[in-house]
Amino acid sequence: MTNAFVELGLSEPIARALADLGYEEPTPIQKAAIPVLLSGRDVLGQAATGTGKTAAFGLPLIERHVAGRPAGLPCVLVLTPTRELCLQVCESFLGFGKTVGIEVAPIYGGQEYGRQIRLLKRGVHVVVATPGRALDHIRRGTLDLSAIRALVLDEADEMLDMGFAEELEAILSELPPEHQTALFSATLPARIQSIAQAHLRDPEHIVIARSATQGEAPRIPQHAYVVGRPYRLAALGRILDVESPELAICFARTRLEVDEITEALRSRGFTVEALHGGLDQASRDRVMRRARAGQLELIVATDVAARGIDLENVTHVINFGLPASLETYVHRIGRTGRAGRSGCAVTVMEPREYGRLRAVERITRAKVEIRSVPSVTDVRAKRLENVRALVSEILSEGDFERCRVVVEQLCEEFDPFDVAAAAIALVDKLSGGTDDEDEIPPAPAERRRGAEGQALRGAGRPGRREARAHEPPEPGMTRLFVGAGRSLGIRPGDIVGAIANEAGIPAREIGAIEIAERFTLVEVANSRAGEVIDALRETTLKGRPVTVRLDRGARKSADAERRSRFDEDGDGRPGEDF
Ligand code: AMP
Repeated sequence: MTNAFVELGLSEPIARALADLGYEEPTPIQKAAIPVLLSGRDVLGQAATGTGKTAAFGLPLIERHVAGRPAGLPCVLVLTPTRELCLQVCESFLGFGKTVGIEVAPIYGGQEYGRQIRLLKRGVHVVVATPGRALDHIRRGTLDLSAIRALVLDEADEMLDMGFAEELEAILSELPPEHQTALFSATLPARIQSIAQAHLRDPEHIVIARSATQGEAPRIPQHAYVVGRPYRLAALGRILDVESPELAICFARTRLEVDEITEALRSRGFTVEALHGGLDQASRDRVMRRARAGQLELIVATDVAARGIDLENVTHVINFGLPASLETYVHRIGRTGRAGRSGCAVTVMEPREYGRLRAVERITRAKVEIRSVPSVTDVRAKRLENVRALVSEILSEGDFERCRVVVEQLCEEFDPFDVAAAAIALVDKLSGGTDDEDEIPPAPAERRRGAEGQALRGAGRPGRREARAHEPPEPGMTRLFVGAGRSLGIRPGDIVGAIANEAGIPAREIGAIEIAERFTLVEVANSRAGEVIDALRETTLKGRPVTVRLDRGARKSADAERRSRFDEDGDGRPGEDF
């Protein structure tokens, strides 16, 4: 295959690594940014999560600064707002650079220093770090930036929102004057623009145009299910159970994902085939024949592989994650609702894709309805409904004479109604084919940004609601008491920064903050309270260890388990309560 990545200027070994990852062709941001970064220029990229931005900076920087060099002092530094993103970027870099022997160190708050120091000492090419922890290492002398040749600020707007402005400035001042910089941000508020002005040299400003296909999207219902990343496959299975498509095309981004989905759905009892660039023509033809003959419920495909296919009877287009470009989305959904038939588009997505979902709504000029993932009960009800339909079909066909004798025997001993119900239960059990009994937890709600996602999010700090000690916390949130307040110079950014950096909690899961003279109250998502308490107890605020515990009000309402775990302050200090 002539490789589209090689055409962008990447070398064969890197292209090979991408083939192993199942990438078939570059996304728009990759097409735009890779040649520029390969040429050594700076980039200011406006791109959200899910557009393929990690590879857009990762591939060219690995090619330019890592390939052919032994590991030693880091030569590429990537700064990310959260631990979660830090780990994801590390994983991506390891995949991109595996054929060139890349060494990557994740550096984030909440993990012991010793391990990170050992990693750094062993020698690396790339450090991916959250700003607070990176600065700690710099100050301890354990992170040496003197060999840095390229810096990436990933999700820069998010880093500022989390209160990392000062850390960023401090880190930037430690870098050698000659280095390449790439700044990626979903939005470009004034504060980002001023960082870009001060730190980028004649950057190429890359924005992926959104309006090219406006208005061309077909008018079909679109809905989306939002779930945490680990639950996407389980959610997809349930959605398909309930939707029972006649023929669906499910799009995924990589070959590996296509194989994974195909496997999971097959074991759930669907007749499903995979379609991707790794298949030969004969296999593709076979898949298409089966689909046309009505022998398939589902084709799972990459966009490249699906390009040539022409099917009239597709009832559902399913996006397993939103595609990297909006044009691709419009192409995908154009595969259903053909020739006046009905069709619908279903998206299974992660909460962090909300911003791009809103962009989809703009480009298709239609609302995408957010639905709840079918519960275990919904799936069971649907299965019973199927059994009912099957049984009623057999009843109307009348082809069950040979079974009457069994019913007669059973009815001598049992109630006829019970006999029928037991037979239905048996069919239900046999057709179940899965022991998927666990509920899928609801995903965090959308965090609304300013209009069009472009608005400045507060001039310097997040616009958070003030917490009020005498009011209960927001639903779904737990209020924590932190034993440091105004008298220590604590500001909301310090609290958000500490939680984000040390516990790796995204800003959207941090709620209202109230700073009093000697303490601070901060609300975090219920499910994160334990992690946040653990992480903050390990760290310092303004250079001091602080008391951190459930707020008293929260203690009353917290569940028994959490209560037993955190009831003791464990810090031995007298009450700083109010
Ligand atoms: P990112 O926007 O960097 O968070 O990437 C989003 C997802 O898209 C990741 O799961 C990547 O593995 C995947 N991805 C990035 N580039 C490509 C590509 N060219 N082809 C297929 N998948 C990709």
